[in-house]
Amino acid sequence: MSVSRRKLIDGLVRGAAIAGVAGTAGYLVNKAEGQVVWQIDGAKCLNSRAGEVGVKACDLCVKECVVTHSAVRAVNEFSKCGRCSICPAYFDVKSAVGPDGLPSQKLCPRDAITRKPIGEVDPSDPANNFYEYVIDEGKCDGCGKCVMACKEPAGLGSIRLKVRHDLCVNCNSCAISIACPKDAVAQWKTDKAVNQQWQPVSE
Ligand code: SF4
Ligand code: SF4
Ligand code: SF4
Repeated sequence: MSVSRRKLIDGLVRGAAIAGVAGTAGYLVNKAEGQVVWQIDGAKCLNSRAGEVGVKACDLCVKECVVTHSAVRAVNEFSKCGRCSICPAYFDVKSAVGPDGLPSQKLCPRDAITRKPIGEVDPSDPANNFYEYVIDEGKCDGCGKCVMACKEPAGLGSIRLKVRHDLCVNCNSCAISIACPKDAVAQWKTDKAVNQQWQPVSE
């Protein structure tokens, strides 16, 4: 990778991190510090837990939530994303290869993920081209397909499911938590649920 491309990617990661902090601040405003909220433990969720590959993605987060289109969304943590040219969460890698050498179908049933090149694309060196994958949370319903596909070894596990606290109505007994086959949905204190987005919390 050239120095200029690395610099560009590093800059974008920093920008995404700042945007992430700004987004987090919004949720902190919505939920007072210390308030108990429902959140998904990515280390337990079937779609993101390590080792569970080749199985159908679990869609109970979208099917069971009491909110229309669910309060759960897929979230891409840009600092962990490999910016792959052929992202298995964006493309249906089992679909036929098109004339451009890329899979012809997308994976997301709601077309909620956009693929944007980072810097100049060099068609003669596709392995050295990088892309930013952004999830449109207005379209995503948390079906989990992209999360399952992003998991190692095919991906880097940068996409996970999160309860969005501006959508969640904070049910006394979360319907997803009751249905979840992996006991992955639990109540967390707001500071942990919001700030430690990618770490399971041990009390
Ligand atoms: S119900 Fe549980 S296992 Fe299924 S997607 Fe939701 S958190 Fe993951
Ligand atoms: S969770 Fe489902 S709807 Fe949301 S971006 Fe991923 S594949 Fe699309
Ligand atoms: S607490 Fe209620 S609204 Fe929130 S994620 Fe669970 S079922 Fe959906």
